[in-house]
Amino acid sequence: VRRADVVVVGGGPAGSSAAWALVRRGLDVVVIDRQRFPRDKVCAGWITPPLVHGLELDLGAYARGRVLQPIRGFTVAMEDGGETAADFGRVVSYGILRRELDHFLLLRSGAELFTGEPLREIRRDGRRWVVNDRWSAPWVIGAGGHFCPVARRIGARPGGAEPMTIRASEMEVPLPPAQRSWAGVDPELPWIRFTRDLRGYGWVVRKGDWLNVGLGLQGGTAFPRRLEGFLDGLHREGRLPPDVAGALRGHAYLLHPESPRRVADDGLLLVGDAAGLAFRPSGEGIRPAVESGMLAAAAIAAVPGAELASVARRYEDSLIARFGPRAGRVRRGPADLLPGPWRAPVIRRLLASRAFARRVVVGRWFLRQDLPALDPPPEARPGRLAVAARSL
Ligand SMILES: Cc1cc2nc3c(=O)[nH]c(=O)nc-3n(C[C@H](O)[C@H](O)[C@H](O)COP(=O)(O)OP(=O)(O)OC[C@H]3O[C@@H](n4cnc5c(N)ncnc54)[C@H](O)[C@@H]3O)c2cc1C
Repeated sequence: VRRADVVVVGGGPAGSSAAWALVRRGLDVVVIDRQRFPRDKVCAGWITPPLVHGLELDLGAYARGRVLQPIRGFTVAMEDGGETAADFGRVVSYGILRRELDHFLLLRSGAELFTGEPLREIRRDGRRWVVNDRWSAPWVIGAGGHFCPVARRIGARPGGAEPMTIRASEMEVPLPPAQRSWAGVDPELPWIRFTRDLRGYGWVVRKGDWLNVGLGLQGGTAFPRRLEGFLDGLHREGRLPPDVAGALRGHAYLLHPESPRRVADDGLLLVGDAAGLAFRPSGEGIRPAVESGMLAAAAIAAVPGAELASVARRYEDSLIARFGPRAGRVRRGPADLLPGPWRAPVIRRLLASRAFARRVVVGRWFLRQDLPALDPPPEARPGRLAVAARSL
């Protein structure tokens, strides 16, 4: 059995960021993932500048041979008609392909990687966890996404008793050469259309020569019918290039304020979708995945050899301090505050205002400009913390 300081289960943005932040502090980290990389992940794939800062991403290097679509804002539309361009006139976000970003981050993490390795078994051996009878560590970080087996181990019941707060489906297709001049959506102003009740939105995003089209709904009632209606509407309105077709793939995940999941117990820490951390109301999950990975790493490294319970508490407190409190149940959305008959007209009026669309919808809801970036993790003298952790 290979002894490490931390075993991370799942090599998506949450797991790779946790691993990177731990390795930078001198810890010895193993990451396992059931898939071989590069692998696809159902996602629209927009990321924001605070993520670039926190991860110290060198965008010039990243863009070499990869898709990095600058985004200046969003075109915000309503189901009942009307749309407003919320253009910031500067780059406020980027479109990426998840198979590229996730692969890049995982390789860069500096951890020892085992891909094509699903978590099969996890058991206690004194003060350490033994994973698949191959690796052991005092800490296991569960970064396996919404259905993470480590999350189940500490009580998560995906699809069962817990609310499935977001259901989303999309297709991501390369545009054939004949379609590359298609100008239906400005690549720098991706198009999003809110549902009447503001409990979800559809999107058409062009990233380089790729097109990503999808719909995400909170609660997900009658999802297949609404998805079909949304796609039919796009075809009717000519918002999709002709002949573009791809398989729709769906996924579910939880929003932070509503997630009932515990995030840590007995040397197990959950990060990203495993903990249910996506931002409300945008459903942005990559930034909270990355930041929770960095916070989990900080909690583990803060007091090497600390009691399991105090690390768990430190991690929980840091999540609440950063992302706010959790209610553990579905909460009312902003639109629910309005009486029924007023809802659609008021929302339509608000969204038609360029200032509201820019400042509130895009600036606050989508870009989370109110939440400053986390600083990158410190680089410790290699080995210093690792020695302390290994003594557990
Ligand atoms: C349709 C859709 C569109 C979205 N669009 C956006 C967007 O534009 N921007 C944004 O910020 N967020 C978006 N999100 C949310 C975002 O995709 C997630 O929040 C984010 O991927 C969470 O990252 P993660 O690392 O926690 O999990 P994941 O990215 O799901 O990674 C989990 C990893 O764990 C591995 N794994 C799973 N089970 C096991 C196991 N048993 N053993 C070992 N490994 C395992 C998986 O193979 C995977 O590599 C979208 C989500 C959906 C569904």
